[in-house]
Amino acid sequence: MTKQKITVIPGDGIGPSIIESAVQILKKLECGFDFDYADAGLTAYEKTGELLPQQTLDLIEQNKVALKGPLTTPVGEGFTSINVTLRKKFALYANLRPVLSFKGTRARYENIDIITIRENTQGMYSGLGQTLSDDGATAEAKSQITREGAEAIVTFAYELAKKEGRKKVTAVHKANILKSTSGLFLKVAREVGARYPDIESTEMIVDNTCMQLVMNPEQFDVIVTTNLFGDIISDLCAGLVGGLGMAPGANIGTDCAIFEAVHGSAPDIAGKNLANPTSVILASVQMLEYLGMKDKADRLRNAVRDVIETGDRTTRDLGGSAGTTEFTQAVLERL
Ligand code: ATP
Ligand code: MG
Repeated sequence: MTKQKITVIPGDGIGPSIIESAVQILKKLECGFDFDYADAGLTAYEKTGELLPQQTLDLIEQNKVALKGPLTTPVGEGFTSINVTLRKKFALYANLRPVLSFKGTRARYENIDIITIRENTQGMYSGLGQTLSDDGATAEAKSQITREGAEAIVTFAYELAKKEGRKKVTAVHKANILKSTSGLFLKVAREVGARYPDIESTEMIVDNTCMQLVMNPEQFDVIVTTNLFGDIISDLCAGLVGGLGMAPGANIGTDCAIFEAVHGSAPDIAGKNLANPTSVILASVQMLEYLGMKDKADRLRNAVRDVIETGDRTTRDLGGSAGTTEFTQAVLERL
């Protein structure tokens, strides 16, 4: 059998240190992977003058599975978000962002287990828009939703719910105001939901969802929503389980998948051995599940859970005083 190759993109800021942590752990788990390293983001720009070198794109295409650190897109005209580019280029239409409570974090809740499924290529992040007047005082952005796109993401959510024995899917929208785009999404969500009588289907307006998530988050199971709402709601969900350091994400298409942390490059703590690598370690758990390696995924999740629950060498964001490398060591010892 040929070895599964994983494209590893360390990325910017805290990226290289948390990705290194995840790779060490995957090696220890003896997953039999080959790792192909590739550059993207500012790191690549400084070396090659390109944010997304062709070589990196080729490797993602060839290996089909990538583990990626956060990438910084320089602010300013002419730079399209690298993450958005990757999602579009490889048609990674589903962004799967699970949050799960571990005891021992500083979170306000104990029993959170929510998966946000975010549409990843359409809506407000379609990248369409322009400045309308010469003085730059008027600008517009275009949000586009297609029936095909909505159907694909909602079906993805229900199939995942079915596979994982989840009870409820909540479609989050703003169809009362955004009648055309969010209206189409909701209409399709209702149609798809009707095909899954064994799963409870509910719908909720996005602003109310934010309040409900803060007041009574235990009512949520799987959330499916459009691009912008999903981005915001998944950060909110990360806050429910102890912050961005705890939140992984998978970008999944029909052919390729890229696993990453939900957070950005955290320049404020970069290079200081302060970052919590749990986000990318749990993204590796998602990757193992995607590759059908459920036993190893469970072992890894349990090891991280144990480190955090016992407060053994946890990072500062979790209330501990250890660094990225000590935390990683604590996880390695449990494997
Ligand atoms: P970007 O524009 O790249 O998304 P951002 O401004 O949204 O960046 P993040 O990088 O997502 O910022 O970080 C937000 C805050 O969360 C920062 O204070 C950062 O230090 C903290 N943070 C993010 N990731 C981690 C982590 N893995 N461990 C500890 N703290 C983190
Ligand atoms: Mg951010």
